Amino acid sequence: MDNKKATPVSNLGEFGLIHHLTDQIQLKNASTLKGIGDDAAVLDYKNKQQVVTTDLLVEGIHFNLMYVPLKHLGYKAVVVNLSDVYAMNATPKQITVSIAISNKFSVEAIDDLYDGIKLACEKYSVDLIGGDTTSSVTGLVISVTAIGEVEDGKAVYRNSAKVNDLICVSGDLGGAYMGLQLLERENEVYKVNPNEQPQLEGYDYILERQLKPEARPDIIKALQKLEITPTSMIDLSDGLSSDLMHICTQSKVGCMIYEEKIPLDYQTKRFADELSINPLVAALNGGEDYELLFTIPITDHDKIKNDPDITVIGHICEAEKGLNLVTGLGSMIELQAQGWNHLKKEEE
Ligand code: ADP
Ligand code: MG
Repeated sequence: MDNKKATPVSNLGEFGLIHHLTDQIQLKNASTLKGIGDDAAVLDYKNKQQVVTTDLLVEGIHFNLMYVPLKHLGYKAVVVNLSDVYAMNATPKQITVSIAISNKFSVEAIDDLYDGIKLACEKYSVDLIGGDTTSSVTGLVISVTAIGEVEDGKAVYRNSAKVNDLICVSGDLGGAYMGLQLLERENEVYKVNPNEQPQLEGYDYILERQLKPEARPDIIKALQKLEITPTSMIDLSDGLSSDLMHICTQSKVGCMIYEEKIPLDYQTKRFADELSINPLVAALNGGEDYELLFTIPITDHDKIKNDPDITVIGHICEAEKGLNLVTGLGSMIELQAQGWNHLKKEEE
């Protein structure tokens, strides 16, 4: 970033900047009738239902520009919203992006941010249809809203898991958290000695999980193909513990999950080992994995059991039984604030 030209945003002004950022955008979805350029966008979803979701990201709270490149930030800001749309069993079609920028950001810096935003739009076939641009006195604020479609009655909620359903996750968990730990460690080293080269080798996967997460439309498609409608679903943004608790609380059920079934990548385990922490903690409490957590009727087990991207980690039980994690040694831990403290005590 330092070697690039740094054109002050004031050279273009607000309208000039918006034009500069959005000028080349081509709309690709039939439901987008009017995109950027008028007072509002116009959408036509015909006979489909719409889902709408929004996220607000604040510099210093949700991201640290010391180690997050702006292009990655733009990409991730979009992907996390799309992930919420997929978690409704819906398909995202449009996004709006609103930004507040301080004068430390040049036109080139905002270009980087939008390169990431546009890349995500391309990859997930969504149209950027509007937003708002304003100034901020401190750092960068970015808000993305995603709009998507789902067939009538096909939306999947958090409140409909049933006793005996299987609990499934896509991909592997805890990687994004371990990637963050690595970036923070290297950032601390850098603060002490800016000449030291960051030690990131061998950890490309967990870094990517943190810096460039992907949503899971492939899982939604795979489930459709297998003719499985999940009984409940949520995306894993806050960690398995907390997100599974949302499903259980809202569905008024309990759960039993098994430590040994929780999918962990080799790099997640290796870096956890390096930091002397239990990788399970990263999976349970880390968050930002943007995998899908869902429940399916036990009768659908045969349909998914050979899918390498889906792991059954446990099952739903009666509410009275509570939320439980069965450890590798066979003991049962209550999956809540205490569960986490207990684990933490164990590793100390
Ligand atoms: P208004 O005064 O009606 O809010 P603006 O001048 O803010 O209009 O925006 C003009 C057009 O550019 C609108 O279509 C708006 O949605 C779009 N727009 C503004 N800021 C952004 C942005 N940061 N990213 C994408 N589109 C934007
Ligand atoms: Mg405006």
